[in-house]
Amino acid sequence: MAVCARLCGVGPARGCRRRGAAREQRRGGDGDSEPDTDTEPEEASGVAVAAEDDEETERIEGSRPSAGPAEAGRAPLSLLELPPELLVQIFGSLPGTDLPSLARVCTTFRRILRTDTIWRRRCREEYGVCENLRKLEITGVSCRDVYAKRINPRVKSGRFMKILPDYEHMEYRDVYTCLLHRYRHILGLWQPDIGPYGGLLNVVVDGLFIIGWMYLPPHDPHVDDPMRFKPLFRIHLMERKCATVECMYGHKGPHNGHIQIVKKDEFSTKCNQTDHHRMSGGRQEEFRTWLREEWGRTLEDIFHEHMQELILMKFIYTSQYDNCLTYRRIYLPPSSPDDLIKPGLFKGTYGSHGLEIVMLSFHGRKAKGTKITGDPNIPAGQQTVEIDLAHPLRLPDIENLRDFSELSRIVLEVQEQVRREEQEEEQRQEGEDRTQQAASQPAAQPQGGGEGAEGEETAAGAEGAAQDKAPASQPFVLPMGVISRNEDYPRTCRVCFYGTGLIAGHGFTSPERTPGVFVLFDDDRFGFIWLELKSFSLYSRIKVSFQNAEAPSREAFDEMLRNIQSLAT
Ligand SMILES: [Zn+2]
Repeated sequence: MAVCARLCGVGPARGCRRRGAAREQRRGGDGDSEPDTDTEPEEASGVAVAAEDDEETERIEGSRPSAGPAEAGRAPLSLLELPPELLVQIFGSLPGTDLPSLARVCTTFRRILRTDTIWRRRCREEYGVCENLRKLEITGVSCRDVYAKRINPRVKSGRFMKILPDYEHMEYRDVYTCLLHRYRHILGLWQPDIGPYGGLLNVVVDGLFIIGWMYLPPHDPHVDDPMRFKPLFRIHLMERKCATVECMYGHKGPHNGHIQIVKKDEFSTKCNQTDHHRMSGGRQEEFRTWLREEWGRTLEDIFHEHMQELILMKFIYTSQYDNCLTYRRIYLPPSSPDDLIKPGLFKGTYGSHGLEIVMLSFHGRKAKGTKITGDPNIPAGQQTVEIDLAHPLRLPDIENLRDFSELSRIVLEVQEQVRREEQEEEQRQEGEDRTQQAASQPAAQPQGGGEGAEGEETAAGAEGAAQDKAPASQPFVLPMGVISRNEDYPRTCRVCFYGTGLIAGHGFTSPERTPGVFVLFDDDRFGFIWLELKSFSLYSRIKVSFQNAEAPSREAFDEMLRNIQSLAT
C-alpha cells in the first residue's frame, strides 16, 4: 500500500525550482547556500507529515511535477527539482548523523527532513527499532512484564501521568536524536566495577527504550539452565526531546536515575532515590529476597557454613553500591575457523562460590578462560584457566579412568615436558639474541635444537587439530576423590588438553597457576579438573546473541582483556 508523503508547502513547488534557477544565475558567488531562515523548526506549522508507509517509490513518477513541453527533454539539474517523495527516499537512505548538516542547506531540505518516515527508517536500520509508536501494547509486551505493569496507554491522568510518556505525539526524529543517537555509546556489553564480583550488563534498544539488563547465571549448580536477567536502568523519552533515565533496581518500580558517560568505553549510573531500594521488612527482608533471587534458596537450605559466609559477604558487599556503578566495555572474543570450538561466554561451577561467567578466547596455541564475574579468591578479570592446545592429553585406559594417581601422573609428566620446552625456548631466544648482536648478517639461521623443538610443537598441535577434526568420542568419568558440584557432566568427551588453573587465598593472596586437565565434551560444554584442589568445574555455553559486542579488531580485544585483568588486581 503506497501512501505518498504529504508535504505541505514543499510538494511540486515552483518556489523550489525558481530558487534553483536563481541559484544557477548566482553561481560562482557565495549565494550558493540558501540562508537558513527557519530557525525554529517546531514553529513551522503546516508541515504535516502523514506518511504511514515507506513504499513511496511507486508514486514518484506520478507525483512528479508535470513538465512543460519545453522542459520535457531536460534532466533535473538540482536536487530541489526532484519531487519531495523521492527526496524523502534519498534522505531516508543516508546515515542519520548526516541529516542535521543536510537540514542546514536550505529551508526545503529542512522541511523535508521533518518527515517522520525518514527518521523511522533511520531508527530501524541503525538501531533495530521495529515498534510502531502508535502500537503501545506491542511495546509493553516486548519489553517484558517488568514494564507492562507501569505502561498502560489507556491511563492518561492521575498519578500515572508522570510515568507515562506521551507516545501519541512522539516523533521518530526525537527518538533518533534525543534517545538513540545520544546514548549510542552505551549499547553493548559491559562489566560493572563491583570489587571482585564483576558482572555482565547488556545494554540494548528494546522497543522505544534503551535498557540495561544485568545477566545472572542460573541457580547453582545447574549450568545448562538459561541465563537470568533483570533490568538495572532504562532510558526513554518521557516528553519530546527529553530522555529520562530511570533506575530499575529494587522492587518498587522505576524511579529517578542518572547516567554519565565518563569517557570512551566507560559510563556510570547513579540512583537518585535509593529509598526505593529499601524494603519494609528492613535488611533482613532485603537479604532474604536477594538470596531467593540469587541462589533460589534460603540460608537454612545451605548447610555448608563456609558457603553461608561467602553468600552473606557478597550481599553486604554488593548491596552497598545501591546501583551506583561504573561500567567498562567488554567485547566478545573474535573467532576463527581453526578454533577448537566457537569462543564465547560460558557459565561454570566454582564450588562454594556458585556459578560464574567465564569468557573463552583463542590465542594461537593457547586458549584462555577469563572471569567476567568473580569471587573474593579469584576476582573478575583474572584468567581462571589457560589451555595449552599444543599439548593434548591421552586419558588413562577405561579401567584406569577412576584412578586419580594415574591421571595425576600423566598430567605431571606433561607439566614437566612443558617446563623443559619453555626452558629450551628461552635458551633458543637468548642464543638468537646473541647471534643477532654478534653478527650483522641479515638472515640468521635458527639453531638446530630450536628448530627441532618447534617442529615437535607443530606436530603436537597438528595432532590436537586432527583429533578435533574427527571428534571420536571417548568415555569419560571423573577419577575417585575429585569433587564436582554438578554430577550431571557428560560421560563421553572429544579431546583433553593440558592446562593450568589459577588458585589463590581469600583476597587474591598468593595466586598460583596449578596444573589441570581441560576436557572438551562437545561444541557447547567443557570441563576443567583442578588437580591440586581435586575438584572439577563444568562449563556450559551462554546461548544469547549479544548485539554491539563485536571487537573492532583483535588488538582491541587483547587490550580489553589486559585492561580488565589489571583492574582486578
Ligand atoms: Zn534506584
